[in-house]
Amino acid sequence: MKRALFSTDYWYALATRRKTGHTQTELVRLMLQALRKEIPEMCSVTFERGCNLQCAHCIYPPSKSTEACSRRVLPELVKSAVKQLPSNNPLLLHEGRVIHPWHISVMAEAKRIRPDLKVGLIDNGSYTQHLDAFRQENLTLDWLDISVDGDEEAHNKQRRSPKAYKQAMRGLEVAREVTNGRVTSLFTITKLNHDRLEAAADALFGRGLIDELHVSTITPAKPHLEALEQPNLSAFWKQTQTIYRRYGQTDGKQRIFFRLYRHQELAKLAAVTSRREMKEAFKGASVAPGEVHFTLRDIPFIYAPLSIWPGETFLIDADGAYRTAHSIGEKLSDLQRGYYGNGRDLRGFTVEQLKPYFDLRKAYRKCVDQWWQFAGSRFLEEELQIFKQFK
Ligand code: SF4
Repeated sequence: MKRALFSTDYWYALATRRKTGHTQTELVRLMLQALRKEIPEMCSVTFERGCNLQCAHCIYPPSKSTEACSRRVLPELVKSAVKQLPSNNPLLLHEGRVIHPWHISVMAEAKRIRPDLKVGLIDNGSYTQHLDAFRQENLTLDWLDISVDGDEEAHNKQRRSPKAYKQAMRGLEVAREVTNGRVTSLFTITKLNHDRLEAAADALFGRGLIDELHVSTITPAKPHLEALEQPNLSAFWKQTQTIYRRYGQTDGKQRIFFRLYRHQELAKLAAVTSRREMKEAFKGASVAPGEVHFTLRDIPFIYAPLSIWPGETFLIDADGAYRTAHSIGEKLSDLQRGYYGNGRDLRGFTVEQLKPYFDLRKAYRKCVDQWWQFAGSRFLEEELQIFKQFK
């Protein structure tokens, strides 16, 4: 049976200029129509805006603890959100930053009221201070991710802390105490660590600490992050091929995932391979909602076009507002005010301040339209420009 077309199918037709019998305007209309129906299966929650680390590559701006406000609004909103997630594969994700015991209670309660719910945690290892709370709440995670950004030296440099690597490794060592699903690690490539990917993979797979390694580039959403961006991916590319041969597949299972969230990275990959190879790779690509899967010199990549971001997750910020991609790069107070100090309009980042009985589908459809006006249409133009170069 033929499946219904995803927004990504239309995006793919636009990017690769495949003949469909539709004009570009029609394809965009059909893409947005499909996107409106793709209710996210994942709800990501920023339970806390403060963090115990201040990593160099962190997209969050430094923040005081938001516990007082978050604790007042999030428990009811999380319950309401998880009840409304579609049935396929509902996931509640504790996005960074740091975890506190009351977050564990909220996640456990969410799982009690929605037993098919999967619960995931992205952490830096600080969760190990709360193992008792996991036991008391009888909460077992379905997914735990602890980032490791290189060997000890590179990781601590990127994390701006002499203890960060040991904390992350301890978090991975005891991961099975709180997780009965996947244990993963994300490596974020920057100027500080781009030559340490192989060292990280050897330490993590060599010690059997993880099931999967995810590798991504930094999103330089703020000026101070641009300085950390790695413009030349050649050192990374060599290590990519090495570690994929060494650990990429075991018993037919893929264990290393390269994820790209920015179209600019595609141009960088073309620079270390070739434009023709990129074109061929995308010719043979397959799509899933929000994702394009392509293979370049036997290495599989996942690319998530920013123009159709809303289907990725239903993102609840620490103040109970439903917000868009890249909003976490702004201070909460600026987002609430709608303007940044230099007069930049930030209103497009906030979809709505959620109330306990909000309608998730309605809010999501609003997000699709708002994102398109605010950033999506601009990103699509940029994405199409990049694809024109592949020939
Ligand atoms: S641990 Fe994560 S959330 Fe905290 S400062 Fe580092 S990157 Fe940011």
